Amino acid sequence: MTPVESGGYRSRRTLEDNESRQLAPSASCSAQSRGRLYPEKEHEFRTAYQRDRDRVVHSRAFRRLQYKTQVFVHHEGDHYRNRLTHTLEGAQITRTIARVLGLNEDLAEAIALAHDLGHTPFGHAGERVLAEMLASDGGFDHNRQCLRVVDLLEQRHIDYPGLNLSDETREGILKHGCHWTHPVQLPELLAQRSLEAQVADAADEIAYLNHDLDDALRAEILNFEMIEDLPLLGNLMREIRGQHGAIPDPVFRSWIVRGMIDGLVTDLIATSCARIEAAGLDSSEAVRRQATRTIALSAEVDRARRELKSFLFDRFYNHSTVLSRTRRAESVVGDLFRVFCEDPARLPEGVRERFSGEGEARAIADYVAGMTDRFALAEHRKILGSDAGIDF
Ligand code: MG
Repeated sequence: MTPVESGGYRSRRTLEDNESRQLAPSASCSAQSRGRLYPEKEHEFRTAYQRDRDRVVHSRAFRRLQYKTQVFVHHEGDHYRNRLTHTLEGAQITRTIARVLGLNEDLAEAIALAHDLGHTPFGHAGERVLAEMLASDGGFDHNRQCLRVVDLLEQRHIDYPGLNLSDETREGILKHGCHWTHPVQLPELLAQRSLEAQVADAADEIAYLNHDLDDALRAEILNFEMIEDLPLLGNLMREIRGQHGAIPDPVFRSWIVRGMIDGLVTDLIATSCARIEAAGLDSSEAVRRQATRTIALSAEVDRARRELKSFLFDRFYNHSTVLSRTRRAESVVGDLFRVFCEDPARLPEGVRERFSGEGEARAIADYVAGMTDRFALAEHRKILGSDAGIDF
């Protein structure tokens, strides 16, 4: 049965027409997409970017985010964030900002949902080790790995590798440009990326600063007194106490985070709106040719953001409890990479088959990087024994 444009049914063409009528001139319209690496027939009722988002959500790498560390390892508590919940919180903030600015919410969401697919087990600790081990073999970086996941490592088609995402979503994944060899054609990169990509970046940081603060308070690595002198936070805490008096800690904590997210997002929207207008941005191409990013916080709030970030580095990410876990995580990832290099027979056949095309080190790095925390720990125990000195 061919769907008909009646009874409220909206075809892709209707959605595309709506986009060109309703979105801001600086937004990315899906009908103007630069396309995919491997041309495909358009979908009847989903736009190019909606399909990208759906492909990311249905990918294996996306499901694995559930068992990858944000800061706390998964079994340390059921209420701490993992990469999946971080990604969902970031995507939710992304959608809010994109909608208010009249940008393409579907593209921004696709980028936000994909942005951490290249993370190794144990977060940045695993990334640091692989970068060291691959120093003379082209290096390792989670953004690059993310593009490898969506372009090469996911298997969804018999004719080509990867998810075959649109050029705009792939551009959004490349946060810091591309300084490495990539086996398939890279997305087009100009001075800046689309506003949707810039929003996803900004929302990622707003999400992690706030949920990491929340998790650090929950874990009692930080307490309310320690954060009271920080700009933004101090005023917000005094305001909440002034209005509501004594409130239970869990409620106070969640109101602090809620107020912080709201304050940062509101400032980002107002500042970015003014910048779009001042620069007269009338197309997504004009955005890409700008010398600097358009999506930004005001100078004052940005200073406060930087202060909160460096406070979290000093007092949370580099706290002895977190650091000792980081060191153990580095040992697990380092041991696995070394063992597989020394004895490739331990690898699944599918990984060894990739040696000739990718080189041994890169194929092993792809395999280790794809592991979840718990799979990496189980492999480590299986290969090196339970007394290998790794006790999480
Ligand atoms: Mg992130």
